[in-house]
This record gives sequence, C-alpha cells and structure tokens, in this order.
Amino acid sequence: MSKPLFARILYKISGEALMGDQPFGIDPKKVAVVVDDVAEAAALGTSIALVVGGGNIFRGMALAANGADRVTGDHMGMMAIIMNALALRMELQSRGVAVTVLSGLAVPQVCDTFTQRGMIEARDRGDVLIFAGGTGNPYFTSDTAAALRAAEFGADAIFKGTQVDGIYSADPKKDKNATRYDTLTHTDLLQQGLKIMDGSAVALARDNDIDVVVFSIHAPGELARVLCGQGTFTRVSSN
Ligand code: UDP
Repeated sequence: MSKPLFARILYKISGEALMGDQPFGIDPKKVAVVVDDVAEAAALGTSIALVVGGGNIFRGMALAANGADRVTGDHMGMMAIIMNALALRMELQSRGVAVTVLSGLAVPQVCDTFTQRGMIEARDRGDVLIFAGGTGNPYFTSDTAAALRAAEFGADAIFKGTQVDGIYSADPKKDKNATRYDTLTHTDLLQQGLKIMDGSAVALARDNDIDVVVFSIHAPGELARVLCGQGTFTRVSSN
C-alpha cells in the first residue's frame, strides 16, 4: 500500500453500517468489519477519529413525526450514538488498539465528556478517538457533528462511508443512468442539492477547508485503499 494522502482524518459511519441484516440494533460481526478497516488505516500512520450515528437504534425525527417532543427524541438519538460508540470502543480495545471515547452529551459514568483539551491529549498520545453523543445538542445530526469535530480535531478530510462507492448524479439504486463523480466542490454539492450530508455539515466543511471523501462501506479494506488514493471514491474539495 502506498503512502496515505491525509495525515489526519475523521471517519463518519452511519449507525446503519453497524446494523447488518438486522432490522435495527448492533450486529457484532459488522462492528468487527468496521474495526478491521479502522485498525488497518490507523496502522498506516494516519491519525483517525470516528463519528458514528445512531440511526440503527433511534432517530429523534421519527419520534417527532408521531407528534412527540423532538428534543426528548434527539436526546434518545444521542444516547443511541453513545451505545454504538461503546460497541466500537470494546472491539478496538479487544485488539489492543488504544482508543478514547469523548461524548458531546455528558455521561461521566460511561465515558469522558468532549473537551478540546481532552481531545488534544488523547490525539497526541496516538489514540484512535471516537466522538460520541453527536454535538450534544438537539436539532443537529451526526453529519454536522462529524464536520464540527473534524474542524476541532484538525482533520484534513472527512471520510464518509456510504451504501455506494461515491457521489452520483442520482440514486444509482433507482436510476440506471446515474453517473459517479470523481471530484466535486462543496459548492457543487450545495448548489446541485446532492444529498450526501446535510447542508450545514457541507457548509462547515467548506468554511474550514476540509475535504469530504465518499466511498463504500461494503468493500472490506476500502478505507485504507482510499486513504492511499486507490479504490473507488468521490473527493469533494474547495477547488
Ligand atoms: N442527534 C442530535 N444531535 C446531534 C447528533 C444526533 O440530536 O448533534 C440525534 C438525532 O435525533 C439523530 C440521532 O441522534 O436522529 C441519530 O443521529 P443520525 O440520525 O445523524 O445518525 P445516522 O443517520 O448517521 O445513523
């Protein structure tokens, strides 16, 4: 494998990536696959932080759609994210990878709360970081949390693992004429309404000059390959 293109990345995984074939929840086999990829990429010397979503367990919007309180729903969603983060931590630790979980939502009995100081300490120690609990605030998504933490972490790029191998002009599962882009700008994403991350996350990445690299979570080893400029992906950058 050649040299990584980026010295520091934030890897965003949706909660659904941990679900496997189950209708919801955490499939330990999928957690192991994600962790294989992270351990392989970390071994290349790139500094890595993870942001995981919670959609495999709970989304606040789903509760709000039935007339319930959105803020309570979002608190439940952020707790779902923490559960996923703990599953990833356990698997990384079982392989001897040094890992620190920092949560935006304070649950001190479970993990440390996110602070810039704590993050820098763990990052400079060489730990893999997991930023859990989203931003800690309702009305946000884990994509926005990923962009925020990427800026705080000093990441060069957000690596976004998705169901397909990049960004397409239309949903390739529904439209056989959909074409894949090799490169795009953040402004292209926003202007063309390409739904890969929410608009606030893309704008935050653009304003902080953080690339977004989109690739498939279904190809084992792809994270390390894409990190080295191989494999299949779309790269979103400022120019
Ligand atoms: N959430 C939140 N604030 C945040 C991040 C997430 O309130 O900063 C809640 C929200 O309810 C969201 C849920 O956590 O629906 C799970 O996150 P998300 O839907 O982004 O997960 P993913 O789609 O990546 O699995």
